[in-house]
Amino acid sequence: MTGSVEVVYRGIFQKHLGQHITRGIVLAARKEGKVGISFGRYGDSPERNGVPAKSFAVVADTEEELEAHLARYEPTNNDITVAVDDTLCKGVESWAWYGLQPINKLTRAGGTVLVTSMQTADELLKDCHRKGAEWNLGVIPGTASFSGLWVYKDDHTDVRVLGAIAKVAPRIVKLASVEAAIRDEWKDELKVASARKAHDRVSLRKVAPDEGNPEKPYEFKLPKWQEMKEGLVIPGIPVKEEVPGWDGGYRPGRNPTFKKYATRTMRPVVDFETCTKCTICWLQCPDSCFDVTPTGHYDANMEACCGCGVCEAVCPVKDCITMVNEQAFEGNSSQFEAYEKDAAAYKAWVKEKITDKTITARSHGFRYRGQYEDELAGTAAGDAKGGD
Ligand code: SF4
Ligand code: SF4
Repeated sequence: MTGSVEVVYRGIFQKHLGQHITRGIVLAARKEGKVGISFGRYGDSPERNGVPAKSFAVVADTEEELEAHLARYEPTNNDITVAVDDTLCKGVESWAWYGLQPINKLTRAGGTVLVTSMQTADELLKDCHRKGAEWNLGVIPGTASFSGLWVYKDDHTDVRVLGAIAKVAPRIVKLASVEAAIRDEWKDELKVASARKAHDRVSLRKVAPDEGNPEKPYEFKLPKWQEMKEGLVIPGIPVKEEVPGWDGGYRPGRNPTFKKYATRTMRPVVDFETCTKCTICWLQCPDSCFDVTPTGHYDANMEACCGCGVCEAVCPVKDCITMVNEQAFEGNSSQFEAYEKDAAAYKAWVKEKITDKTITARSHGFRYRGQYEDELAGTAAGDAKGGD
């Protein structure tokens, strides 16, 4: 018997979380006399903030089976795919390798996608692409856990996912083994209790082959080596892209195959009426996302935006740019075009998006050492005052 689990996480923000989960699977499997290995797909390339990345765990009854299973770069036909941020249900795009990969693409038919989310399975299904085969969608209730490169947010998301995996695929790891591994690794009975609770609470829904987002994910073909230009010549990207119908304005040329929308957990919503055209967002955006429109407004291009939040931080006008949870949006169309078409309807749309604080409450992890401790201290103070 072999079994494999793929954990899809946000680069840097969830780097340690992904590792904890796949390592925990292997440690638990060893309690049952199995062998296993946990590894990141990006061992050979750098991670970036938010860019979807993967960690895998493969377990087997014998070393021969394990070796046979590992004779490929990225395991396909995984028993379980774990998405530790529900906005990953919109798809996974990693460095312009193949376009947008549906979250269930590497899940085997009949396998399970496990998502940490406060949304229901039906809501998540609007984002997950159709698979063309039956699969299962499991929800572990909870918000996305983001930390940072140097800090780990020990909010038990790791062991909760392990408990849920034991429920979904006990042939890979059983709950008793997960509990024993947690005791060995973390020596924390509270974490054992969290794993057990998640095991009992994970909700599962069967998904039919034709259920889910019907859109065809964006894809492109990588050139074969014999199709490339001689002498390692890589065509440059034009400095400016012409926009049909624009008289004036400026849109920089961009890599036509690297769409960064799968990198976002939040996106900026721009209020063009209060914008003073000060240019600061355009200057400061690290991904050169802002198109300068013929009217002199700055339109964050949703194919290029990685959702870092710098523009919100630097915009000097209150509520002119607001970062909003990515799950509140469908599509990546231009906000400026919508504004030009119907300014009143756009204003109402902006108001609705930025006032929905239940879904705008997101973070990008920690920015300084000790921030987690500060957050815990703040929570403790909130608890003492009766807060939640
Ligand atoms: S969030 Fe703002 S600053 Fe960051 S990439 Fe998107 S448009 Fe640029
Ligand atoms: S920083 Fe704010 S006010 Fe300045 S151009 Fe950008 S959106 Fe407008």
